[in-house]
Amino acid sequence: MNLEDLPKALQHEGGLSRRLFLAYAASLSSIPLLSRYASAAPVHVFTSEPFTFGVASGDPDHESVILWTRLAPKPLEPGGGMPKAPVEVHWEIAEDSSFKKIVQSGKINATPELGHSVHIEPRGLKPDHWYSYRFKSGDATSPIGRTRTLPAPDASPDKLRFAVTSCQNFEAGLFTAYQQMVKDKPDFVFHLGDYIYEYASGRNGKVRTHLGPEIESLDQYRIRYAQYRGDKDLQAMHAACPWFVTWDDHEFDNNCANDISEQKNVDTAKFLIRRANAYQAYYEMMPLRTSSLPVGPNMTLYRKGSFGTLAEFFILDTRQYRTDQPNNDRKSPLNAAATNPRNSLLGETQRKWLFDSMNASKGTWNILAQQVMMALADRSKANSPANYSMDQWPGYAHERAALLKHIQDHKITNPVVLTGDIHSNWANELRIDDFKQEQAIIASEFVTTSLSSGGNGSATIRGLDEYLGRNPCTKFHNRERGYIICDVTAKTYTTDYKVIDEVLKPGGKTTSRAKFTVEAGTPKIHEA
Ligand code: FE
Ligand code: CA
Repeated sequence: MNLEDLPKALQHEGGLSRRLFLAYAASLSSIPLLSRYASAAPVHVFTSEPFTFGVASGDPDHESVILWTRLAPKPLEPGGGMPKAPVEVHWEIAEDSSFKKIVQSGKINATPELGHSVHIEPRGLKPDHWYSYRFKSGDATSPIGRTRTLPAPDASPDKLRFAVTSCQNFEAGLFTAYQQMVKDKPDFVFHLGDYIYEYASGRNGKVRTHLGPEIESLDQYRIRYAQYRGDKDLQAMHAACPWFVTWDDHEFDNNCANDISEQKNVDTAKFLIRRANAYQAYYEMMPLRTSSLPVGPNMTLYRKGSFGTLAEFFILDTRQYRTDQPNNDRKSPLNAAATNPRNSLLGETQRKWLFDSMNASKGTWNILAQQVMMALADRSKANSPANYSMDQWPGYAHERAALLKHIQDHKITNPVVLTGDIHSNWANELRIDDFKQEQAIIASEFVTTSLSSGGNGSATIRGLDEYLGRNPCTKFHNRERGYIICDVTAKTYTTDYKVIDEVLKPGGKTTSRAKFTVEAGTPKIHEA
């Protein structure tokens, strides 16, 4: 979406009207989606490999899963080296990786409006079942992906294993840790945001280089995703199992809050045009359902799922609907601004949906897959005044308390909060006030470190001195790079903190740094 392409009627003396722009955006239809199913597009003859991003799958339920690919023979050029016309893509999903037992197949048009991405939604698959899938276009065939459906809603599976990852700055480090994640064989992956970083070239390291300035246009966001998804380790992990993705700030703009930029004097309507570009590029690149198709600057990303009755999960969007971050007050960190009841990370609609969904859950474990740390962790240096991040749940302390109180009052069973964003590992016991140890523990929080952001981390016990002593809720803290693996049974929830010793050059080794367990019925965190 470009300012120049918008109808002149949206302009007024002061520039673009936010109100008129939003009305216009809401009127946009799903025409790009419909043209996918229009009459068959001509078969395109490729002169070079079009499946440069590999394949991906995502958002499985008990009878369907999204199959994704994208045609881009020249992935780092605007338009991806594709004609400005629909191109036919054939897809198939099979019981076996040699595609002798194909269970469903079909044709769809990859359209230029959606960057020649395709999102297939086969239905009626067997529950709790692994499949192979692939795509063909012209005489090109994609790599083969493996994916799975989840158990039926009333099934009671013995175990679930998933990986949790976040914060993969392309310039700051290699994605080597995904090599071990493939070997860990998770049932699925949660990506909790900062899948890309929007910054200009050279800002965050020299391991690899972002192309161009800070990204704002649709082409720029598309090319940024193309750089990231060109990474072979990331592609292999997407091909290995389905992912549930959600964004944080950097998929759009650092520390964004709804339609408010962190920078001063940014025109709201122009910022929303940028958001529309960011959200469209995100949808195009991710294995998301049609229910997440963006309309203008709006896109529904919060959703839920279940793994039989073993676990229900609620995937949150704490960026799109939040109120602006309160001002940090070093003298009184949880000040009136931070505890103002009008502050919200979730927005009213998502909050009500979350509360209602948790009340209706039949899951033994109730997992919130979300972005920013919920513990009231004081992150100041030793002997300096307390300091809480106003971009995280402490800046929205009233809603944080309301959420934990809701979990307590409605006896939501075994709540676990999963978090990214902060580029360090944490295990936290959450109370309504984390500094009142006499209060009951309500939930367990497992925070995954960054996959690459920040470059090589450190295993020193600096964190012990700075954080563990002053934050009684924190049971573990570590600043290496990596991801977490969660193993869930009806009795226990185990989190394995996987760390990698080197992201600045190839060959990094990924090992288990620490394991923590929660027993069903008591949210206390034990060393495993
Ligand atoms: Fe990050
Ligand atoms: Ca972030």
